[in-house]
Amino acid sequence: MRVVVIGAGATGLGVAWDLTLRGIDVTVVEARELGAGTSGRFHGLLHSGGRYLVTDPSAAKECYSENMLLRRIACDAVVATGGYFVKKFGDDSTFESRWLSQAEELGVPTHPVKVAELVDELPMLTRDVQRAHWVPDGVLEGFTMLSMLVQAIESRGSRLFDHTKAIRLRLDGDRVSGVEVEGVGGYRVLECDAVVNTAGPWAGIVARDWGLDIKVQPSYGLMLIFANRRMNKVVNRLKPPGDGDIFVPHREVVILGTTDVAQGLPDAPEPRRAEAIRLMELGAELVPDLGSWRVLRGFTGVRPLYEPSGVTGDSRTVSRDFAVLDHGETDGLNGAFSVLGGKWTTFRLMGEALGERLAKALNVDSPSLSREVAIERRHVRSVPSAPKARGALLCECEQVYEADLDESTATSQMQRRFDTWFAMGPCQGTFCAHRVLGRERAVGFADELSSLRREREHGLNAVGWGASARLIALEQSIAAQSLGEDAR
Ligand SMILES: Cc1cc2nc3c(=O)[nH]c(=O)nc-3n(C[C@H](O)[C@H](O)[C@H](O)COP(=O)(O)OP(=O)(O)OC[C@H]3O[C@@H](n4cnc5c(N)ncnc54)[C@H](O)[C@@H]3O)c2cc1C
Repeated sequence: MRVVVIGAGATGLGVAWDLTLRGIDVTVVEARELGAGTSGRFHGLLHSGGRYLVTDPSAAKECYSENMLLRRIACDAVVATGGYFVKKFGDDSTFESRWLSQAEELGVPTHPVKVAELVDELPMLTRDVQRAHWVPDGVLEGFTMLSMLVQAIESRGSRLFDHTKAIRLRLDGDRVSGVEVEGVGGYRVLECDAVVNTAGPWAGIVARDWGLDIKVQPSYGLMLIFANRRMNKVVNRLKPPGDGDIFVPHREVVILGTTDVAQGLPDAPEPRRAEAIRLMELGAELVPDLGSWRVLRGFTGVRPLYEPSGVTGDSRTVSRDFAVLDHGETDGLNGAFSVLGGKWTTFRLMGEALGERLAKALNVDSPSLSREVAIERRHVRSVPSAPKARGALLCECEQVYEADLDESTATSQMQRRFDTWFAMGPCQGTFCAHRVLGRERAVGFADELSSLRREREHGLNAVGWGASARLIALEQSIAAQSLGEDAR
């Protein structure tokens, strides 16, 4: 049995993992590089379910059980930070009581925290906190998890072709027989017994190419990255999910999110200055001194929301739950499936649900093992005990040495970044990207790195005030002097 999966985000790799564990031969095709879609553009929250207790109970329940499971089976990509839901004086008390009773009913653990203790632990928070509750929120390191999933499927015989776009379906009567792709390997046909559309915000476009109409509603969110890990727990505002109401500590930085703006296109838009300023104002309701925190950059991600009954006006009200479609059942296109919506936190569950559906439709007699089998991290960067032996230090923020790049088995610059974490720290590549670029020109990764720098510049421009404005000037002068690029 051969299956082609279209899109290597969290959903596609969750599907590939579940199918691979069932003994199915899987080829994942990814139009760009790993993590180029929404899965590389999110807060990094491992949801406890707390955010959806009142508005989306079934998504809340799924998030909680997957959160607990991923701590066990994918512990190298999960940090069990814990989190708080904070109610300010004046915030709706009836929402708090509904939230607490839903938590009890759905089995999501919470416990009250004394305000004095909270302020002691997180002194940057507003003094207007009336009550706070602990939840088992965590941090999901998306890039690490993607790398781990690729290693896991490849070690069991499946494969990923990145920079390879699915362009057409091949049919034998009313049954899928292959997928035409083009990309780095040129044009080719991947013969298969089934195909799964996991193209996230692009899923509607892929379905259109198949002659189907699927209502995917792309809505984007802006997030801001702040230098320094100023808090060690996730902080949420205890009110109906809205803009600018969550801070997530992520490695050395903190991420503030987000907004929710419906848009027609699946591509992540450039961060806008006015929106970044509004997000700062909203974030300041929880952290009054936020204006003095150094913003590293803004970035956007596009939600692949799925609304079965058609596009609604308000994307906040569309469920965060997911759907698996068997197009053989619904459209007479046998062997074609789509997995839509959902969260990063529920990627494994989405894979399992697709696996069950596909196995039933195609008479595959093997159960899902993705609940039991651990997703392990194989390439682990060694700690540089003797700096001289590791070559030159390329990235100070993340302590990446020349030897770390040499030892990485990644086949693309993007994967090297996930392996080593260079350009992901507080300087956001301002210094190390140039060093690595200079060194890697010879191996042909220069274009990838240049586009990374370009994207980061856009994110930096949106927050170009205070220290960030000085960083932009510094970045441009380094680019002009070391790379001969024009100062813009
Ligand atoms: C602002 C924001 C914040 C979020 N925060 C969180 C959070 O904190 N926690 C959480 O659990 N979830 C969060 N989410 C949700 C989560 O990030 C997404 O649900 C998840 O990443 C979607 O993954 P995906 O694989 O479906 O889509 P994607 O990651 O977008 O993957 C789809 C892939 O398909 C590829 N593709 C498209 N067309 C083709 C083609 N023709 N051929 C080959 N490849 C193709 C694309 O290049 C892309 O890489 C957030 C979402 C947003 C927008």
